[in-house]
Amino acid sequence: MSRALVVQTSFLGDMILTTPLIRELARRGPVDVVATPANAGLLANNPHVRHVYRYDKRGAHAGARGFREVVRLAAADGASDIAYLAQGSVRSAALAAVAGYIERIGFETSAGRWLYTRRYPYRRDRHHAERLWSLAGHGGDESPEVGVLRPAVYPGDADEAAAQRLLDANAHVGEPLLAVAPGSVWATKRWPYYAALARRLTLLGRVVVLGSEGDRELAQAIVGETFGSAIDATGQLSLLGSAALLRRARVLVTNDSAPLHLGSAVDTPTVGLFGPTVPALGFGPLATARRVAEVPMLECRPCDAHGPRECPLTHWRCMRDLTVSDVLEAVESVRRGEET
Ligand code: SF4
Repeated sequence: MSRALVVQTSFLGDMILTTPLIRELARRGPVDVVATPANAGLLANNPHVRHVYRYDKRGAHAGARGFREVVRLAAADGASDIAYLAQGSVRSAALAAVAGYIERIGFETSAGRWLYTRRYPYRRDRHHAERLWSLAGHGGDESPEVGVLRPAVYPGDADEAAAQRLLDANAHVGEPLLAVAPGSVWATKRWPYYAALARRLTLLGRVVVLGSEGDRELAQAIVGETFGSAIDATGQLSLLGSAALLRRARVLVTNDSAPLHLGSAVDTPTVGLFGPTVPALGFGPLATARRVAEVPMLECRPCDAHGPRECPLTHWRCMRDLTVSDVLEAVESVRRGEET
């Protein structure tokens, strides 16, 4: 039985979208994962993961000594062990090589590809979860069912308790929870009308705002617009605590950012708001009930793989023209259980 080492040290969303690959590899043998400290907690309780090795590549493990430390932790046990480079840097590939993995698998477009022993196409026409999943050796013309590609995370008892404590502290008494996640690292991906949307959503249930500490200002604007009824959960829960809260929600409205994938991972009906990016880049929602809201027929879309810091055309119509009514219509459709 071969052991798999999955190296994924990219953004949170990438880690979430790597879980279908991990699930697939676990059918063949034990799976260990190299992850950033920020993302490692996401894999807690995951039944398909044996060990998580934290690689703080920009902090404690920066430099040769730290690199050697992670190499020692993640070293191959035998010649049949295989490394899967879900993150494609030269550093990740070198880590797998120095750690003794004779077989190293990754994408043919990755920077570290010259250190791989097997390369697979990076299928730009596929969802990123499928691209990563295909590293397990699946690369046919037909995509698998969405259930195969749906990511998964596993909140534990402590995460559930933390989510419940937060609701209790905000006097939540069983109204339907409606989650919004207004943040994004990339400014042009932040839809500007969350506060107005939240005010309308209060007619349907209790709004809860998810995000990191850095999203607090956006959350406070929403709380103010809802006359204090919205629950500000930003920066108060761990990743799995947020997942536990999200699992209780009837719907999630989010930008093209990590919370969208967290929503897919707990299968919360999801409305994804896409502006400078498009779902065809491979990062659309995978929840059973899902809908994308976007401004169609805008020729400048997409203008960037991630979303630029500022609109290069200055008008930012990809987000400004997406109205609260458009998003409410999408919310209603996912609440009815419809797919895109
Ligand atoms: S160029 Fe177009 S797609 Fe890009 S940010 Fe501006 S409006 Fe949006």
